[in-house]
Amino acid sequence: MSVLNIVKMGHPILRKKADEVSFKDFSNIKKLVSDMKETLEFIGASGLAAPQVLVNKRIVVYRVNNNRIPKNAGFSEVPWTVMINPVIKPLSIAKESYWERCLSIPGLHGKVPRYSNILVEYYDLNKKLIKHEAKSTWAALIQHECDHLDGVLYPMRMKDFTKFGFNDTPGDISEELKSNKNSIDPLFIDLVNQWPQKNN
Ligand code: ZN
Repeated sequence: MSVLNIVKMGHPILRKKADEVSFKDFSNIKKLVSDMKETLEFIGASGLAAPQVLVNKRIVVYRVNNNRIPKNAGFSEVPWTVMINPVIKPLSIAKESYWERCLSIPGLHGKVPRYSNILVEYYDLNKKLIKHEAKSTWAALIQHECDHLDGVLYPMRMKDFTKFGFNDTPGDISEELKSNKNSIDPLFIDLVNQWPQKNN
């Protein structure tokens, strides 16, 4: 296993539509998937799409640890999940905005409108078709990662650029924390807690 190099915004592969994985190739992507997991473990991050590690295929690896779930999100820890050729269907047209970061856009965060209830269908490594619903920040994470398979990065989804900032200057999140603490991913609450100017 190895920790993979993640390419940053500006690299052309991040703007491409990735190719479907054919059934005959499922056995050839096992090493890639275990390297993607190891990379996420190493960084302490939640999700990664294959184009971010220079593989132009429709593969996403993610997990949601307990310490990344907002208080009122209404879902529990999600174990390591490998999604091959994922397809998302919104379960309602309602969107909510969620704070996001991206390993390909280091140092920044933004608030991104996402469907808050989705159905996702994908194949696992054993070629089994999996279908499940997801909500809240879990649904947002899946939409973020699947966007990478279509060449879309989160700033391209943003509507309000006053909610785009540097992680070491989280004034925009700090404002929201005053009224909305229970629906924010704790990772972003930590950014505010570490910010020396939080009370100014
Ligand atoms: Zn990303």
